[in-house]
Formats: sequence, C-alpha cells, structure tokens
Amino acid sequence: MKFNTRLLHDGVNRETNGATLPPIYQSSAFNQETAEDLAGIFSNKKMGYCYTRVANPTITAFENRITKLEGGIASVACSSGMAALSNALLNILQAGDEIISSASLYGGTIDLFRDIEAFGIKTNYVRNNDWKEIEAAFNERTKVVFAETIGNPCLDVTDVRKLADIAHSHGVPLVIDNTTATPYLFRAIENGADIVVNSSSKYINGSSNSISGILTDSGHFKWTKEKYPVLGEYIKYGPFAYISKMRSGLYRNMGTCLSPFNAFLNGIGLETLGLRMDKQCNNALKLAKWLEDSYPDITVNYPGLESSKWHEIARSQFDKGYGAILTIRVGTKERAFEVMNKLTIPYILSNIGDTKTLVVHPASTISLHSTPEELENAGVYEDMIRISVGIEDIEDLVEDFRLALN
Ligand SMILES: *Cc1c(COP(=O)(O)O)cnc(C)c1O
Repeated sequence: MKFNTRLLHDGVNRETNGATLPPIYQSSAFNQETAEDLAGIFSNKKMGYCYTRVANPTITAFENRITKLEGGIASVACSSGMAALSNALLNILQAGDEIISSASLYGGTIDLFRDIEAFGIKTNYVRNNDWKEIEAAFNERTKVVFAETIGNPCLDVTDVRKLADIAHSHGVPLVIDNTTATPYLFRAIENGADIVVNSSSKYINGSSNSISGILTDSGHFKWTKEKYPVLGEYIKYGPFAYISKMRSGLYRNMGTCLSPFNAFLNGIGLETLGLRMDKQCNNALKLAKWLEDSYPDITVNYPGLESSKWHEIARSQFDKGYGAILTIRVGTKERAFEVMNKLTIPYILSNIGDTKTLVVHPASTISLHSTPEELENAGVYEDMIRISVGIEDIEDLVEDFRLALN
C-alpha cells in the first residue's frame, strides 16, 4: 500500500461491531473475569488491559497506526511531545550518562536537557551535520545521540543516515524527533534511527485540538546489560527490551499516559495527514519563493529554497516536500512585531502544524529561556518571524503578507 492508503488502513483493527473508528474507551480501569486473569496481566504473563495509565484500547489503536507508518515494532503514546521525549531518553539513561545532541533544537527540548542536569545527565551540544565535531564529542559516558529531522526553528536538515552510522560506530542509539517532517516526508527508521519521537500535537493531529506525543521503537538496537544497566531484567526481551521497560517503568510510574479521547482525535487527524502535508508543503514553498523574489531586504529561510544551506540534504532525504515551516528576518524586532500585528489571516501563537497559518516571534516566546549562545545555535534572531503554513488558498496568504509587509 502507498502512504495515503496506509494512513487509513495500515495497523487498523476493523471493529467487531462495524464501527469505522475505534470506540473511545473512556474507562480508567478494566474488569477481568477472574482474579487469576488480573494477576496474569500484572505479571506480564497475559495480554490485556488493567488500568489506562498503563494501556487502553483506544490508545493502542493510535499507537499501532503510528508504529506502521514509522516502520517500527511498537509505540508508546504519551500526554505530550515533551513527555514522549522525556520517556524516550530517560528510559535508558542514569546519573553520569551523557547525551550528544544537535544544538539546533526546539526550545522546550533545550529546557528539558537543562532540567535533567539535576539528575546527573549531561548534554554535549554539537553543530548539526558537523561530522568532525560530532565524532570528537563521544566519550565512554555517551549513551545516546539526538537530533531533529528538521530543526525547529533553525530549519536545518539533519543527514539522519550519516548521524545514525556515527552513533552506531560508537555503540549507541540514535533518537530522532521527527515532528517537523512527520512520517509522510521522512521515515527516520528506514534511514537508521533507532527511536523516533513525534509531537502528535502538531501535524499528526492537524487541527490543534489536543496535546500528545508518541515514540516508536525500531527494535533494531542491540541493548546490553553492560552499557545500559537501567534496562536490567528487561534485556531478556531482546528487541522488545526498550519498549517493555518503558511501559512497565517510567511511562507508567511518572504517569505520562495520553487521554483516550485525545488518542481518538489523533486517529481522525491522521487520516488526512498526507493531504494536509501536500498542501502545506506546497503553500510553504510558494510563499517562501514569493517572499524571496519580492523582498530583497528580507532573509527567507526554507529548506525548499536553493538558498538554504540544507537544500541538498533535504532534496536527497525527502521525496514529497520540504516541510511547512519557514522563517523570515525583517530587520528589527519592532518590524517583526509590526508585521505580525498587521497580518489578518495567521494566528499569533506558539504552535506549528495546524491547518491554519500561524506566526510567532521565537526570541520572545519559545526561546525566551535560551542563553545567547543557545539562541545562536538554534538559529533564533531578534528580527525573526516563524511561519507555520496552513492549508489556506495561497493567493490569500500572499496577499495578506503583501499588505502587512508593505
Ligand atoms: C512542539 C514540539 C515538541 C513538544 O511537543 P508538545 O506536544 O508541545 O509537548 C517537541 N519537539 C518539536 C520539534 C516540537 O515542535
């Protein structure tokens, strides 16, 4: 099956009563026939549901579809993208361990990496795709490599295959945040990533009606007791060691489960991911080209433009588009605010991946807590506006930007 067919049918269990969507199991706990059955579920000897903080059929339905789209062996859906990222990394890390991460990251992730320093986990930032610097950052405490497919809001594109090869040559896994590309543009696992994280609050949901995140395990990484002692007894599950430990460990015990209702809404959004991404990527390319051609004093950053430093990597990695986010630098912070205030179609808010066009001034919002060095690495400037392009008719968007900029 091709992608749009798979969005509707792959990993879908047709419901016994003929429902075309999975029922919302808005139930916190699940009855068992016998005391033995419940004991069996608790000791992982029997399949089944006991408590929604651990698993729930509506959430499983969403997880199974993402597992298929990302090409993994299992997924865990979480209360937010940040919860999914926290789980993905803390599942294998302990005090004294180190992360090597691209310095071009979503502001929230930089904040998270600062928070977990209190638990003795250090992050070594490297310039994305700077292979010499990345190679030099490894030491015996390095336990994981991390990057975003398309850095938000820097819009640099990670050469995932190369980064995976380097991580594997040092015996550590690669975790990729695929939020900005989505499985529609890029399958990180096919390109060597071991764990993929998506903030499904964004393109997967599509209409910004719920916060959620999901992580998917490729099942490819060979976990060892020596290098990853926190996996403990779960090592015996082989390819399922990582995901089994997650579900019985931090995911359950920190209480990062998704609401069944939000899982249901994500399932609806997922059906149109391909249609929306097509339109949004096309709109973004047209808007970026028009801005670049019409306003020589404005710097336009978009991986689909030949002027982007990352255009070549993007062209070779993505087959269906270059993403739907672009940034513009308009000269000063005052002008950035003025342009944003004059726009009538886009919403002014700190989100991406909505059907509607959104604008934000990253320096005063999502990157507010970043140091000057972190801002530079993340490609955030005082005069920069980030635009998350929606599915509106492009003529209307162009006209709105024309009036605001003039
Ligand atoms: C939004 C976002 C996150 C965080 O996701 P939430 O669902 O808001 O917690 C992580 N990474 C990237 C790239 C994002 O855009």
